[in-house]
Amino acid sequence: MTPYAAAASVVDPELPLVTIAELGILREVTEDPGGRVTVSITPTYSGCPALDAIRADIATALTRAGYHDVEVRTHLSPPWSTDQITAAGREKLAAAGIAPPGPVLLQIRPRCPVCGSPDTEELSRFGSTACKALWRCRTCAEPFDAVKPL
Ligand SMILES: [Zn+2]
Repeated sequence: MTPYAAAASVVDPELPLVTIAELGILREVTEDPGGRVTVSITPTYSGCPALDAIRADIATALTRAGYHDVEVRTHLSPPWSTDQITAAGREKLAAAGIAPPGPVLLQIRPRCPVCGSPDTEELSRFGSTACKALWRCRTCAEPFDAVKPL
């Protein structure tokens, strides 16, 4: 397994149905001639408590794949945006009923994952996890989790 494949297999602790590669958190994985692996990640949300878990999970995944000299670097610039979520990642989020974050306007008001209505309202900044918010659809009254915009 390549170091990239090992790092890319790590799932997001907040959204375990998608990998950090699918979310666009994983930026770059390099291996120098001495076998030292450097993993560059950009967290989805500043202050998101999942970051420490992601760093630990990356180190564990690489150790299991036989890479023992691992450094995880966090890059805040350029910042993560929902544009970096891959098509596969969006499909998985939608299938799980989590509003797939779209372009900037849809981040502010996510579409209802049940009926697709854009007429939604935020109920709480604190959804089921620290990185999601609870929303409700005004059309079908269905509550749903949305990934918090930056
Ligand atoms: Zn709805």
